[in-house]
Amino acid sequence: MSTLITNIAELMTQGLDHRVLKNAAVVVEGERIAWLGAAAGAPAADEVVDAGGRAVLPGWVDSHTHLIFAGDRSAEFEARMAGESYSAGGIAVTTGATRNASDFELTRLAMGRVAEAVAQGTTYLETKTGYGLDVENEARSARIASSVVDEVTYLGAHLVPAGRDAEEYTDLVCGPMLSAVRPYVRWADVFCERGAFTEDQSRRVLQACRQAGLGLRVHGNQLGEGPGVQLAVEFGAASVDHVNYVSGADVEALAGSWAGWDPGSGGKRGTVATCLPACDLSTRQPLAPGRELLDAGAQLALASNCNPGTSYTSSMAFCVTTAVLQMRLSVHEAVRAATYGGALALGRDTGNDADGERAVGSIAVGHRADLHVLNAPSATHLAYRPGIPLTHAVWRAGVRAR
Ligand SMILES: [Zn+2]
Repeated sequence: MSTLITNIAELMTQGLDHRVLKNAAVVVEGERIAWLGAAAGAPAADEVVDAGGRAVLPGWVDSHTHLIFAGDRSAEFEARMAGESYSAGGIAVTTGATRNASDFELTRLAMGRVAEAVAQGTTYLETKTGYGLDVENEARSARIASSVVDEVTYLGAHLVPAGRDAEEYTDLVCGPMLSAVRPYVRWADVFCERGAFTEDQSRRVLQACRQAGLGLRVHGNQLGEGPGVQLAVEFGAASVDHVNYVSGADVEALAGSWAGWDPGSGGKRGTVATCLPACDLSTRQPLAPGRELLDAGAQLALASNCNPGTSYTSSMAFCVTTAVLQMRLSVHEAVRAATYGGALALGRDTGNDADGERAVGSIAVGHRADLHVLNAPSATHLAYRPGIPLTHAVWRAGVRAR
């Protein structure tokens, strides 16, 4: 079964072979892109869809979310808007509600959040554990996550539960908890921040998880300068997320981590700086220095950080708009960070045909057919018309999802 999507006013491919094609068309065959080019030269297909002069982008790749939770923290949000400052401790409120929810309820809630994201153009999603914080509930969260999203990250090291000794809890995270979640996860993460995990504890978590064969990521430099960025680069983590407070040396380390990277032939990969602008606005933190990071040569991703405490939105369009209007990225740079940048952060910018794994986050022949049709003639409208829901149609792995 092949589908020709034609009459595309602007096709933004992103990825290595980035192009902006006018009057373009794309052919989807099964779950992959089979052809793209000028509409006038498009091959025949089983089915034709007229894009009606709209813009087409890769589907959003949301590389940082926390969707496995129950409960509500709007009161905490209200207090913060009234002037209280954010601290990491609010996580405990969600942990209580999550532990009390049934498997059915947690799955239903997570599926609803995924559906909400897909309806807004997100076609590839990562999510984390981290509201279980004991062996049984972390394993349960990981199992449920693996049934509803594309990539699962183990974040047992989200917060030391109240009344627990931090060193003993870190042992648990590195030992029995890791073994219990291992079948369900591909990544591990640690919240390296004042009030969460120290540099030494973070190091232990990263070492144990690397030994278990997991890819690494770090929550770092959100609330102040700290060791998170340097630790992430030292461990070759795929991403360090938040990066609001970075030193000149941090920026240099992030940019330098990509030196010698040859995307064509694999080679050593660096650490993506993942900015979470919706979270920064919701915690009234200064926005991450995305412009400075890009100018220095770092690889940037934009993600929603959808979570009940600090960023209860899955709108990648909102993140892109904010990145353009407030972080001084161009529309192309912001869209790239929210598609190809996310794929880089998840190691899915290239496919592996042997595993049947297809690249996501860019539109190229052979890549997964994840397409986002905007109800606008160009991607510029994402920032030009802030707040307007512009998602017209979505294909996820070749299947019409909206
Ligand atoms: Zn997070």
